[in-house]
Amino acid sequence: MLFKKLSDVSEAEMQKLISRGSGLADVGEIVSSVLSDVQVRGDAAVREYTKKFDKVELADFEVSEAEFEEALAGIGPELLEHLKVAAANIRAFHAAQLPEATWFMEVQPGVVLGQKATALESVGAYAPGGRASYPSTVLMTVIPARVAGVGQVIVCTPPRADGSVHPLTLAAAKVAGADKVFKLGGVQAVGAMAYGTETVPKVDKIVGPGNVFVTSAKMQVRDVAEIDFPAGPSEVLIIADDSADAVMAASDIIAQAEHDPNAVSVLVTTSETLGEAVRREVLLQTENTARSEIVKTSLENAAVLISDTLEQSIDFSNKFAPEHLEIMVEDSDFVLNKIKNAGSIFVGNYAPVPVGDYASGTNHVLPTAGYARIYSGLNINHFLKYSSIQKISKSGLESLKETIIALAEEEGLQAHADAIRTRFGYRPSK
Ligand code: NAD
Repeated sequence: MLFKKLSDVSEAEMQKLISRGSGLADVGEIVSSVLSDVQVRGDAAVREYTKKFDKVELADFEVSEAEFEEALAGIGPELLEHLKVAAANIRAFHAAQLPEATWFMEVQPGVVLGQKATALESVGAYAPGGRASYPSTVLMTVIPARVAGVGQVIVCTPPRADGSVHPLTLAAAKVAGADKVFKLGGVQAVGAMAYGTETVPKVDKIVGPGNVFVTSAKMQVRDVAEIDFPAGPSEVLIIADDSADAVMAASDIIAQAEHDPNAVSVLVTTSETLGEAVRREVLLQTENTARSEIVKTSLENAAVLISDTLEQSIDFSNKFAPEHLEIMVEDSDFVLNKIKNAGSIFVGNYAPVPVGDYASGTNHVLPTAGYARIYSGLNINHFLKYSSIQKISKSGLESLKETIIALAEEEGLQAHADAIRTRFGYRPSK
């Protein structure tokens, strides 16, 4: 773990932090060859790659009703209730994002303009399942799609070693309202949803996070299926001052680090005392955490940086553009107002990232690797498209006639100008 004054960080170290490797370049070729194969050979290729990468031979990819029933029967009522609590909050937050379905305004007399929102016809949600199971991701992807009104919503998630899917993932699919679930992971899952196979329907858009293989595959199928954004290995950046609690901050660093060896956790603080305490505490907690092997590897990407001022911490955060930003400072509104680039923002000591990962209702599918500079986290707009509408009266068109004709003729588009003139008696054929 890097421990330094921010002003002493070398250019190379800063570059490594800012353009932190998503690793996409390293896997591009293998991903592209798997995708081509899935496109050409469909189910046969998907079956082979599932055997190769997930070490499972599957006769059927689609989860059957009997499998759903067995999974639901095996889940205690309490766990199911927790799933429903999380689902209700996610539903409420995303319903609040819904735009007015259709609206109109009169831009000038007789010129009425409007916009109409329409849900996508089909969406494929990827729920990771390699190093951990992510029933929560099923809620985060399927519920907004359903709230938006998407026609068909399917889920792909990798099979476990015995060929089954985690029962809670299946329960989440039921609670969220998914139409079908397929036991498919990695590149083969993304390819199957993008191109369609004999058993997996082709979808219009693929959403959801995944490791570097999944993310690379999503980036490569964009010619046939829209995607949300790159949502790869998780990251947290914590801005703290001496009011922060070192044990809490350290536990948030470890929580992020346990996702993936490529996860990135950074603390930037004006308090050297706090920085030291967090570093000590991270080392202690690493020894006692269940996934300490993954944590140890990903902590190689971690950093504790000491800034001279809070403004310096904020500038660094905006450059870093974290997936998750935690603000643990006395005057949190001061920081919040200056933040420009962050996937999801957690304010105060009692808003650790896991609250948003699971239950508060905000979405946990978020842009990583600095993409928060340009992308928003998953929200209702990812499932909608907008058509503009115009209703123009004859007098409305007349009031714009000279403007349109002048601009069209200047562009050399005579027929455009004539299309206006014909509304006022001109007949081009005469
Ligand atoms: P995953 O489902 O993304 O990946 C597992 C799949 O990877 C397997 O099914 C396998 O087919 C494929 N794979 C593994 N090794 C391969 C190889 N050598 N070649 C080709 N394919 C291979 O699950 P995971 O690995 O646990 O990763 C989940 C990721 O999702 C983590 O990085 C986690 O941080 C991230 N995540 C991100 C967000 C977000 O919003 N950004 C949210 C949740 C999770």
